[in-house]
Amino acid sequence: TAEQIDAGRRAYELDRAHVFHSWSAQEPLDPMTVLDAEGSWIWDGEGNRLLDLTSQLIYTNAGHQHPKIVQAVKDQAEALCTVAPQHVNDARSEAARLITELLPADINHVFFTGGGADANEHAVRMARLHTGRRKVFSAYRSYHGGSQLAVNITGDPRRIPNDDDAGVVHFLPAYHYRSYFGPQDESWSEKEEGERALQHLRDMVVLEGPGQVAAIILEAIPGTAGIYLPPEGYMQGIRELCDEFGIVLIMDEVMAGFGRSGMWFAHQHFDVEPDIVTFAKGVNSGYVPMGGVAMDDAIYGTFAQQVYPGGLTYSGHPLAAAAAVAGINAMKDEQMVENALRLGAEVVAPRLEEIKDKHPSVGDVRGVGLFWAVELVRDQTTREPLAPYGQTAPVMNQMVAEAKRRGVLPFMNMNRFHICPPLSVTAEELEFGLDVLDEVLTLADESVAD
Ligand code: PLP
Repeated sequence: TAEQIDAGRRAYELDRAHVFHSWSAQEPLDPMTVLDAEGSWIWDGEGNRLLDLTSQLIYTNAGHQHPKIVQAVKDQAEALCTVAPQHVNDARSEAARLITELLPADINHVFFTGGGADANEHAVRMARLHTGRRKVFSAYRSYHGGSQLAVNITGDPRRIPNDDDAGVVHFLPAYHYRSYFGPQDESWSEKEEGERALQHLRDMVVLEGPGQVAAIILEAIPGTAGIYLPPEGYMQGIRELCDEFGIVLIMDEVMAGFGRSGMWFAHQHFDVEPDIVTFAKGVNSGYVPMGGVAMDDAIYGTFAQQVYPGGLTYSGHPLAAAAAVAGINAMKDEQMVENALRLGAEVVAPRLEEIKDKHPSVGDVRGVGLFWAVELVRDQTTREPLAPYGQTAPVMNQMVAEAKRRGVLPFMNMNRFHICPPLSVTAEELEFGLDVLDEVLTLADESVAD
């Protein structure tokens, strides 16, 4: 309505006057106003409807304004808005039960946090106390959060201005398309990539002193860093390495978890059982902030009699927990995880293969479930990225603007588009989004033509 649009304009002015935004120089920003959302769609400040291929920051897994989650938050607000973490609360208890039920049999306890970064901070703290060791291994080309330790274990350029001596050691990931271990061409197999990457990690652990290494933390499928799936055997190899040296394996499922990859947790694709799983985002589709650390019985055992020196005022907040219970149940009832797996295989995969064949600017397409990346290049043979590492390119921004004009909100990072709609998306909606992506990619083709 005209009233909503006026209110949106006022909100925009106040935002520019007073709101400080994440990861940005403030003055050049021109943020989009969102007036409304439903299912896979959002409405911008002028009332235009856009298909949300971003799930915001890849978290509205159950879709926008899901009536059952909205109702659960309302009901919880009426019953009991909040209660301190030391007291028992029914929504929190049930959320913990539902979450651990989806995880390996020996993961039975959850420490709730406010989001993904603090989940990773606490996971590392637990691993350090559990092992009595300090070093933490994490991958380059990863993202683990914006707080101090979480940004230090992160392996993307945002880490660099925040670096301190946090006992973090970075290793090179298995990233077949942009291999650090072999030639970046067809002659290098996924299998070789996995084996060499594993050997590199083992060498680094040995060189750093295995007796010093508390944990290896990694995303089951790296998200923001490019949705690159681990080669077959890589995850199992890491599990074996951790077992051999008594290292805690922390799987960061903040983005990949809760159905995004077409399984409840992405590590389930690779048949490994982590010691700790961190989560946030999709646990309750972000309707109320929540994250958590799910730990196995061995980690739990360390703190069975010994005090865990950590806590948060809002740990297991009832409104967030009620949203998690309703969200998980809605995803089960409506088979959203199955939907994600099926649509990924039947709609996204074939269509992206076509797009890759058609557009000279498309270097690689990859993903699973509703978790896909389209990687753009200047040259398909050299694989030179369309935007340099850690930067963007004008044509990337032009494509986003053009996609929005055509009714689609895409997720962009460096030289990549990510396709991550809510898991409740329909095949028709997805086809529409992919049609628009296909159309706007001609801009990238033109930019690499000469
Ligand atoms: N870990 C991963 C894999 C993520 O993708 C993110 C956020 O994008 C985080 C951790 C940090 O979560 P939060 O922003 O809720 O702190």
